[in-house]
Amino acid sequence: MRFLIAVLVLIVGGLVVSCGPTHQAPVVSEAEEAAEAAYQERRAFQRWHGQHVRVFNIWDRLAAANAEFCPEKIPAVGWWVSTPGGVSETLRGEYVRKFGGGDIPRITYLHAGGVAEKAGMRAGDQVVSVNGVVLAIGWNGQMSNWRTWKETSPLKVEYLRGGKRRLVNLTPVEACKFNVVVGPETTVNATASIDTISVSVGMLDFLTSDDDLALVIGHELAHHTEGHIAKKMQNQVVGAVFGAVIGAAIGLPGLGYSGGTIGAMAFSKEFESESDYVGLYYTARAGYRIDGASELWRRMGELDPNSINFGSTHPTSAKRSVALSRAVREIERRREAGEPLVPKRRHPVVEKADKGDSFEDRMN
Ligand SMILES: [Zn+2]
Repeated sequence: MRFLIAVLVLIVGGLVVSCGPTHQAPVVSEAEEAAEAAYQERRAFQRWHGQHVRVFNIWDRLAAANAEFCPEKIPAVGWWVSTPGGVSETLRGEYVRKFGGGDIPRITYLHAGGVAEKAGMRAGDQVVSVNGVVLAIGWNGQMSNWRTWKETSPLKVEYLRGGKRRLVNLTPVEACKFNVVVGPETTVNATASIDTISVSVGMLDFLTSDDDLALVIGHELAHHTEGHIAKKMQNQVVGAVFGAVIGAAIGLPGLGYSGGTIGAMAFSKEFESESDYVGLYYTARAGYRIDGASELWRRMGELDPNSINFGSTHPTSAKRSVALSRAVREIERRREAGEPLVPKRRHPVVEKADKGDSFEDRMN
């Protein structure tokens, strides 16, 4: 038995030796690794925070400039308030180093020139209560009771700076009541759900210009204001019911599911075109440049060549580019005429034959 074990140890030992690396990689001490890890954590935190600041800055401008089109509004003061629990464990150390720790939420973003900043509030201030109500923190570590604040009411804010209690009155601006988040996906994507707009990290990397990013967020905002999400759900239900009734009659029970899918896709392209058009107005109203809208869709075509000529739920990138350049001209004309920038209820229709316009537009 002993002999057998010895032979086995020799065989396994021999295998391990023969399968091991044959080159000597540089030796890294634990201290060196820890120092580099701390540096990378700092970099990762700066990137994370920078992405949020960028999106919040754009969102604040869009949400205030277009409040009149939003079905529900909130009083906005241009801050973001959260706790260290809102970030991943890796980023938490840097978060605390930059803003401070504790359970009382802190300001981690201030809109430059916004209400809170003008009133003297600073990043790192701990917001204790608003109008006497202690701030609630949601599952994502961010302030959650902002949705209950009454429109345009003045806000009495109690906060701590360096442990000292302070009071300030903020007169908020009216803004659209939606949540905006940075999604972790590296794909180039932006989505709108019933109460949240999400912009992916991939999209932020792809769009280096804030004007372009504002166009994308403006488009998502338009999905909200035009009620596309609710309409889509309604079409899905109608399609599912219709499919189920037909399916029962002809003995295909799965037809309800297919009907729902088809229903959800009804008007999908039209909704996208409408959001492009309406969102362009929203972007212009927030003071962003819109003359790059057509080029943005050319870049999307480069990124995803399939989208140039084909789109099952979305218009082609070619159509979007031409329609947007036409809508840009419409907005410019209305600006010159001193007309209010309110989207017209009927938007420009672009047929395949109009494709030639894009070249002409580029030249002009
Ligand atoms: Zn869309």
